[in-house]
Amino acid sequence: MEKLHKSVIRATDIAAQFWCEKQMELGYIYGRKESPQMRSGSEAHKEIETMVNIPLKLKPESYADSFYKNLYAGYLAFSTLGERGIAREISIYGSANGFKIAGKLDEIRLEDGEILVYEDKTKGSDKEPTQAQLSSHAVQVQLYVKMLKDIKSNSYSVEDFTRSYRIDSLKVTPGFAKQLKEAGVEGQHATITEVAKEYFNEIIKAPRISDVARLRYTFTPTGRVIKTYDIKYDEGEFSKKMSYALGYWRGERGAKPVDESEKWKCNYCQFFGKQCKVWYVDRQKVL
Ligand code: SF4
Repeated sequence: MEKLHKSVIRATDIAAQFWCEKQMELGYIYGRKESPQMRSGSEAHKEIETMVNIPLKLKPESYADSFYKNLYAGYLAFSTLGERGIAREISIYGSANGFKIAGKLDEIRLEDGEILVYEDKTKGSDKEPTQAQLSSHAVQVQLYVKMLKDIKSNSYSVEDFTRSYRIDSLKVTPGFAKQLKEAGVEGQHATITEVAKEYFNEIIKAPRISDVARLRYTFTPTGRVIKTYDIKYDEGEFSKKMSYALGYWRGERGAKPVDESEKWKCNYCQFFGKQCKVWYVDRQKVL
């Protein structure tokens, strides 16, 4: 955590560890190149968020303001899920072995009385994802299910959250407080501590979190859904995966490169032959 200047592990970091841990680490050290596909993917996310969510015209001016806005948007998403049936781009928080974990749920839907987590992945080709892509992405949605279940069962409580993020010491800026007042947000939602309580309460009160989540792959140029996969969450199996992933963050081992059987992944890696030469063979000089 110190080496990568991090205080929070993102759910996408954990998923990336199951693609190539070394690549995930190098991404933090040297920066990740954003491909046109990644860019159009995040634009598509933004567009659907605007269509589906309750419009929230708050402009954060500081870290505390953004924190407030994320919690408030999450509170609104869960408190209106019963009537709207769907919400998008919801911040989620949790903890594993003392590490703070955070992520963003692409979508939640109310289906047959349960909450289903959906994760969207965009692809530049209209082919179905490989098993390797699926396995890494599945970890991300399983982690989201775990985080929601942890809040619901109070194994990750608002008190844990308040303590670990030092919520009580965070104050929104006067400019943001004015925006809240103008938007009619007052009373029980006036401070970050209060809005955090409401966010946690809404998840606790919400319907059961389904043990099945969905991974949805879309072909970026046309927006067509290529395929949606059901991903099962099993607490026992998932905790084994997490305990392996956290071994890296605890500093018990270095970042693991891909195994030889998966060295084909290196062909798609920006660090191949540069910062990572694990599977790189220098070309022989022709004499
Ligand atoms: S070159 Fe291969 S082993 Fe090295 S970081 Fe990239 S994917 Fe991982």
